[in-house]
Amino acid sequence: MLYKSTRGGDSRLPFKETVLTGLARDGGLMLPESVPDLSGALGRLATLRYQDLAVEIFREFADDIPEGSLRAIVEKSYSTFRAPEVTPLVGVGDIFVLELFHGPTFAFKDLALQFLGNLFEYVLRENGARLNVVAATSGDTGSAAIHGLRGRKGVSITVLHPFGRVSPVQALQMTSVLDANVHNLAIDGTFDDCQGIVKALFADLPFKDKYSLGAVNSINWARVMAQIAYYFFAAFRAMERTGATQVDFTVPTGNFGDVFAGYMAAKMGLPIRRLILATNENDILDRYFRTGVYSIGAVSATISPSMDIQVASNFERWLHYRFGEDPAKVSAAMAEFKATGSLRIADGAIGDRWLSSGRAGTEETLGTIRDTWRGAGYLLDPHTAVGVTVARKAGIGDVPMICLATAHPAKFPAAIERAVGEDIAHHPALDALKGAERRMTRLPADARAVAEFVAANAL
Ligand SMILES: *Cc1c(COP(=O)(O)O)cnc(C)c1O
Repeated sequence: MLYKSTRGGDSRLPFKETVLTGLARDGGLMLPESVPDLSGALGRLATLRYQDLAVEIFREFADDIPEGSLRAIVEKSYSTFRAPEVTPLVGVGDIFVLELFHGPTFAFKDLALQFLGNLFEYVLRENGARLNVVAATSGDTGSAAIHGLRGRKGVSITVLHPFGRVSPVQALQMTSVLDANVHNLAIDGTFDDCQGIVKALFADLPFKDKYSLGAVNSINWARVMAQIAYYFFAAFRAMERTGATQVDFTVPTGNFGDVFAGYMAAKMGLPIRRLILATNENDILDRYFRTGVYSIGAVSATISPSMDIQVASNFERWLHYRFGEDPAKVSAAMAEFKATGSLRIADGAIGDRWLSSGRAGTEETLGTIRDTWRGAGYLLDPHTAVGVTVARKAGIGDVPMICLATAHPAKFPAAIERAVGEDIAHHPALDALKGAERRMTRLPADARAVAEFVAANAL
């Protein structure tokens, strides 16, 4: 399989190069040149355990890695999960909850970042190269990336987080990792400052090349690819248990990475009827799917902080398909968005045959956490609860409704206490972090200071 940029600049890149590149040189995102059709293989795939199913899917996209090596990478990546099924599907009342939080950092990002860590190590060992990853985080990405890359050969990771503005659990999950190749920077500023600094470092091409900077955010194709596997796994389990021939998914959404993986699964022939994306008050995507206008607003802080995003970078990948894979149309739309902060789909339908959207406010989300706890004895984290709220509004009918559970409730104990009136969201592994030794470096929100730090610590 070869890869191309959504904007037409890069093309015919093999998988391994695509993974190390991250963002395309023309500013676009990488996509496979064609979408594999697995509709004829569903019966066989439905019998496989998670790891074997993942290999069957990934080999379609990563055909420049020998299957034995791919299998070893997959087995190693999911051996760190606490659940033997990796992503168990649990019945909760009239819905199914897909638990994606059994990895090392208790959020769904582990599914992709455990895999990406092993993949980087494999590719770098093979070509004798090194990679210095630099990333900004508002919480979950940073800890998942650190736990994916800690101790790996040939790669270092520097994560910038806004000092005092990530949750106490999230800060501990990052700063208690003491491996020599892990560097935490606490920046005196906001998440936007952190992201601005990282962008400035990557935009300085001589600096980027000299220190071989690498990216781990969801613009990296390998992250999207890794997430396709659990859509297949969950749909098979739900159809097995109910006898249904199709399923609905609801996906709590920030950067559009997770729901885009579901969209790819649908294009590959998985019988998905509806793919519903759920936003909190930061609702740029919901407004798009209701009105056809994608226009940026101010970010507001909510109880589901990993979805407090206005510009959803992976939306460009979906637009590429929406525009009939015409890179000129994508480039024009992204240029319009950059210039005006807004873009309008002028021709034809707003969405496609699968995607629709909904939005849940803070009070209704807290209500869903409370009702699900009292009614079914199941504790939803606030991100998952946004999805469940939207799923209920969309209507649960004769097709199984699978709601993606993107984090463990113990990551967000304050929101849970606010919803149910008691401090009940705990996990021993997270509680044990409290006294842990930590290491971080505090720096001003200044790109020069961060560049000096990265240069001094680079491999
Ligand atoms: C990152 C994250 C999301 C949003 O996922 P996207 O791929 O950015 O849409 C939702 N919930 C949690 C807990 C997350 O960490």
